[in-house]
Amino acid sequence: MPDSLERELDASVCPSAAVAASGAIQPHGCVIGFDNGWREVCLASANLSRFFGLSPAEALGRSPERVLGLDGVIALQEALAAGSPGIALPTSCGGADLPGLHLSLQATGRHVVLTGEPLEGTAHDLPGFGCSWGARLAQADSASELDARLRQALLALTGFESCTLVRPEHGCLASERLPGAVYHSDGPSLWLADTWAGPVELWTAPGPHVELTSCPLRLAPPALGHWLADRQARAALILDLHEAPPGRSLAICWDRRPRYLAPPVRHLLLQLAQMAALRRTLLHETQRTRHRYRLLHERNTRLQRLAYTDPLTQLANRHRIEQVLDTELALASRNEAPLAVLLFDIDHFKSINDTHGHETGDRVLYRIARQAQSHLRDSDHLGRWGGEEFIVVVPGCELPRARELAWRMCRTLAQCRIAPVGQVTASFGVASRQPGDSCRVLVRRADQAMYLAKQAGRACVRSLAGAS
Ligand code: GH3
Ligand code: MG
Ligand code: MG
Repeated sequence: MPDSLERELDASVCPSAAVAASGAIQPHGCVIGFDNGWREVCLASANLSRFFGLSPAEALGRSPERVLGLDGVIALQEALAAGSPGIALPTSCGGADLPGLHLSLQATGRHVVLTGEPLEGTAHDLPGFGCSWGARLAQADSASELDARLRQALLALTGFESCTLVRPEHGCLASERLPGAVYHSDGPSLWLADTWAGPVELWTAPGPHVELTSCPLRLAPPALGHWLADRQARAALILDLHEAPPGRSLAICWDRRPRYLAPPVRHLLLQLAQMAALRRTLLHETQRTRHRYRLLHERNTRLQRLAYTDPLTQLANRHRIEQVLDTELALASRNEAPLAVLLFDIDHFKSINDTHGHETGDRVLYRIARQAQSHLRDSDHLGRWGGEEFIVVVPGCELPRARELAWRMCRTLAQCRIAPVGQVTASFGVASRQPGDSCRVLVRRADQAMYLAKQAGRACVRSLAGAS
């Protein structure tokens, strides 16, 4: 029977209860609205008889028990209290020729809106499907891999031909730009079975307006209708990806054929999208933590370098070179290996400062540090001992070879000219490790040898082999 004829009949049967239609829904399901005290039906879709065997005019003003049966009402109230997305109503409850229904409830403050949708099309093993795709999403190692897997899951479960993930930062192509009405901050996913199918009107009893913005059967915003028509799409599913900002990141699936997705299938899709969002957050946080750790490590390395470096000469400072000497002496003692220490002090440095100024003195210190370094191997250690005094720790080196090294350094320095000062010399003291030496004793011997070099007229090398 055409809807208009059915409506006329309804109005003649119950003219006081049914008033003109207000709003419309998609035709593959039905809607019944109650007041929040569950006293009487105040809204019904024109196609109600197809699902419940009674017309909207018969339903309006009746108690919910008389439409759904007492058991149905109790089951629904329990589902609502438990926060369940809905219940399945087997065929036998509604009548022999009526389809099995999935009923979901939305409480809207003044009203409770009941949406009935056919249970057909749930041939998938949904729990198995959820487990296997959930695991694949949870194992994605990058955001792009996660997106690819989510798209695959949506396509596999919906059977749709296209799926696009749209994010605000994508600045999607002009052709893909979605109408603003599609973005929603808190509504459920938008689901369209067949955009070509005519809408079904809603009948209401006199009273406050029934809010249907959360109803799964709500119609597409007109702008989205045009967008889908441009793509010749008849079925569409628009899922919020649950990313920040809310409602701006969406998965859009569409197909050029009408497609029915029963509520349990849609719930699973929603769960997969939420799971992907959790995984995405985790990946993002892991990446941020790694980045922070890297920064921290770099800063620590820089700080350590600063703490160990003499800022003027860029050599190891006293603290660091003492640590190095400690380590090398312990190693040499354990292996009974040779180790030499060279201590050298710039001659008449005070007069360089006095004549040319402190800054020139600083430059001389820097140049001498570079030159001293050029004589050494990677395994040798050069440091600033203090003022115009330097130290060289030479592992594996006997006294004669250490003396040779010191003389080479001494002569090279004396031969070169450092502008504007000219010739600069230094006096060298050399000592080698003796059994039982501590760092202090070893350095003291090198210092005494250097004193001998000063006494001998400077610009020369003196050494002390053993205890003095
Ligand atoms: P000697 O040959 O006996 O070693 O004579 P000297 O003048 O080198 O020794 P003295 O100890 O009398 O003077 C050392 C000078 O080195 C005095 C001090 O101001 C200067 N000095 C120490 N540290 C620095 C520095 O970082 N920069 C400059 N420009 N001068 C420094
Ligand atoms: Mg000096
Ligand atoms: Mg000195």
